[in-house]
Amino acid sequence: MDEVTLDERVQVWGSRLAAGLPSGGLRRPRAGAEQLMMRWLIGDPRLRAALFRFVDVRPACHSRSELVRHLSELLEEAGGRERFGAGEGPVDGEHSGVARRLARLTGRRALELPTAAAAALGVASMAHRFIAGEDAEAAAGELRSLWEHGRCVTLDLLGEATLTEGEGELYAERCTQTLRTLAQLGAAWQPAPMLDHDGLGPLPRANLSVKVSALTPHLRANAPRRALEAARERLLALLRLARELDAHLHVDMESLDTRESITELFLELLARDEFVAGPSAGIVLQAYLTDSEEQLERLLAWVEGNPRGAPFTVRLVKGAYWDHEVVLAAQHGWRTPVFTDRRACDRHYEHLTRRLLDARAGGLALRPAIASHNLRSLAHALAYADALRLEPEAVELQVLRGLGDDTAAAINACGRRVRVYCPVGDLVAGMAYLVRRLLENTSNDSFLAALGSGADLRLLLERP
Ligand SMILES: Cc1cc2nc3c(=O)[nH]c(=O)nc-3n(C[C@H](O)[C@H](O)[C@H](O)COP(=O)(O)OP(=O)(O)OC[C@H]3O[C@@H](n4cnc5c(N)ncnc54)[C@H](O)[C@@H]3O)c2cc1C
Repeated sequence: MDEVTLDERVQVWGSRLAAGLPSGGLRRPRAGAEQLMMRWLIGDPRLRAALFRFVDVRPACHSRSELVRHLSELLEEAGGRERFGAGEGPVDGEHSGVARRLARLTGRRALELPTAAAAALGVASMAHRFIAGEDAEAAAGELRSLWEHGRCVTLDLLGEATLTEGEGELYAERCTQTLRTLAQLGAAWQPAPMLDHDGLGPLPRANLSVKVSALTPHLRANAPRRALEAARERLLALLRLARELDAHLHVDMESLDTRESITELFLELLARDEFVAGPSAGIVLQAYLTDSEEQLERLLAWVEGNPRGAPFTVRLVKGAYWDHEVVLAAQHGWRTPVFTDRRACDRHYEHLTRRLLDARAGGLALRPAIASHNLRSLAHALAYADALRLEPEAVELQVLRGLGDDTAAAINACGRRVRVYCPVGDLVAGMAYLVRRLLENTSNDSFLAALGSGADLRLLLERP
């Protein structure tokens, strides 16, 4: 199909998705206070730096109040009190509005708190929207409700970097417990044809996303052998349990320096005879890496060379460590491994989407999962799948809980399968997760930020 015809179909899908957003249109700001706070926190480089510092400080905090205090101090240091604080000289309309709305968000009287403190409390309140519960058990009601609304899930166990073997062991135990709980919970959910099957067979209801770096303290690019040894036994045990429970195990991708170790380990284990029939498994591919096409070809060649009973899922994302990769490369004088032009990144994402869907249409036992909140990226996948005459269940769309709730509703309204990535963990871990997502998705380059500020739909759906 030529590019112009494809693009016409993308526009149709884009408009359908936009019409399915809960407001029926684009200008549906989330809770006003949250929007304002996000703008305020992210719009200033010094406050943005304070948020990055907060993510670093977070492992040393053990309670919500400690976290709120640290965040509040960092924001104040960065200038929050001086420019936005209550009772600190004249404040203009927007700033006093921020204080008032933050106070409402946090349940405090207006101007009772310095704005930095109110913002920190606001972050704590918002974290609830992003995490589904402390663990799978606590999230049971939410997971069932998502299922009843036509959304399947994958769980992600929040926590910070694993620094000791004990922490690696603990993470593996949490994964084990979560898989068991999910298998039990899923068994009680009502049948849902769109969520339970696709043309390649049944889809496991229990679905866990795993961070291999959390299974071992040693995952370093300069000592990959040691890392592989440490993580191998734990990942192996999880694959065996997933097979026993008929669950899906998905490996997340993190920074580039760990990609090779993680991919090598996962594919090596999965190629074992004991896993020929299952479990269902998959890995993340980050399109912002300029060499991601080679990585995709490697994965496709592996799937072709290792026929298994359960199809392999590739979750295509843009990548969440953009700032990290850019800064690290600059520090070392390396070539930047990621696209630095936003449109080039989006074009590449579409290119990889087409390659994935072509492979699926060509008969490979592959499940493409298109994970994005960008209506253009999603619409492109749906339009191309139609052009290939793939059945509607063949493409799964995925979003993050909290950020992608409206997008998930829009996908539902279009009758396509959507999976919600649900982080679980305590509020302390949730706050760090939230701050990362805020930093990433409220930057000028973010589709969601543009959508929230009421940008023109035609521009948002333009070919990148
Ligand atoms: C279900 C799910 C699972 C995920 N799992 C992972 C994972 O395992 N690993 C991971 O890294 N990420 C993961 N992510 C996050 C993902 O990589 C994106 O960061 C996030 O989804 C935002 O991208 P978008 O397409 O939704 O939004 P968009 O606004 O369309 O894109 C934002 C993205 O564009 C890229 N970008 C930003 N600025 C520039 C620039 N100047 N030049 C080039 N590119 C730029 C960045 O990747 C940024 O995240 C996941 C996302 C989802 C929905």
